[in-house]
Amino acid sequence: MKPEEVLALPFVFAFGAILGSFANVCIHRLPKGASVVAPRSRCPGCLTPIAAWDNVPVLSWLILRGRCRACRTPISPRYPLIEALVGAIFVTAAVLHGIGPVAISGALLATAAVILAATDLEARILPDEITLVVLVLGLLLAAWRDLAVFRNRGPGAFTSHLFPAIAGAAFGAFVVWGVGAAYRLVRGAEGMGMGDVKMIAMIGAFVGPGGVLLTLFAASVTGTLIAGLPALLRNLSWRAAFRRARGSPILAKEEAARRGLLVGTDGRILRAGSRWREIPGSPPEGEPLSPAGPVARPVAAFARLASRRAAAGKATAFGRLALEDETGDFFRVLAARAEAVPGGLLVLLSRVDVPFGVFLAAASVVVWQWGGPALDLLAVGSLFPGRELLP
Ligand SMILES: [Zn+2]
Repeated sequence: MKPEEVLALPFVFAFGAILGSFANVCIHRLPKGASVVAPRSRCPGCLTPIAAWDNVPVLSWLILRGRCRACRTPISPRYPLIEALVGAIFVTAAVLHGIGPVAISGALLATAAVILAATDLEARILPDEITLVVLVLGLLLAAWRDLAVFRNRGPGAFTSHLFPAIAGAAFGAFVVWGVGAAYRLVRGAEGMGMGDVKMIAMIGAFVGPGGVLLTLFAASVTGTLIAGLPALLRNLSWRAAFRRARGSPILAKEEAARRGLLVGTDGRILRAGSRWREIPGSPPEGEPLSPAGPVARPVAAFARLASRRAAAGKATAFGRLALEDETGDFFRVLAARAEAVPGGLLVLLSRVDVPFGVFLAAASVVVWQWGGPALDLLAVGSLFPGRELLP
């Protein structure tokens, strides 16, 4: 890096953090179909509009110690974390590639990957506002890089970056759409949605046709490998939690507050953690477990079944409880296990749903940065063009 670029890094971070603040708004509002421009952000607790000086990325959250200035409602640490992450993405891109169109391309792809991973995880939605807009920006950035040599090479300049970018977008969309269509024919069910098609087209505009193949390969392999690991870790940590909860009613309440709920012998909720409270319509502490809202019903039904079995000294476990509201704003798959502990029935809950878009997002960033050497390795001794396939 040049010295003046090093001096610019704090500003690069600040720019990234401001974009991260906008990314938070996108993650929060786009799945609901709401505008990302208006209205101003409000505190979800007291609906007070958030003043500009309380909306400075990362710093405001730290100064307010994670609470609303007006009503002291806790503000999720996810907001400053995403702001800091996008800031760090921009600094990393600038350090690795210098300040210019290459770094902007990488930082833009990584920021889009963060937003899409979050909306896919939260609501199973890959918003067009991100995939299609970033696809167009990716093509424009590729054209910008070609313009640098346009004076010498004329229209042939566009073969270095713009053509591979267009080819990558078209190839990615075609492959994933084709796989989805084949799946529908064979299984008669929806495999991959149009959201995935648009997302891979967006990725293709940054990594080209070769990068699309690498991204799909890496996302499929990690998706398959990683699926088994959380189950193993969950079982180990749950075993420890139940062992601890059997010690005393106080410890049982602590474990419930951390990752589930404790139902008393009278059927009332003694203690509930965020996993339970974030389910729309879930009854609060002190209330009977039923009637719960329609979304929370599967967990309530599980807890009632588990308490009958607990009376006979049996534990109850369920690998997949799908919770969904009719609008699709809330979608979550939980694993649950319940056992009798001092004071009642302890139900532990854990998320088990990691959608494919999350793996695509992670793989695309890795391939954008390190895909060249991988393609060269595949190209050794063959007609395959190697890193030439990357825009
Ligand atoms: Zn408030």
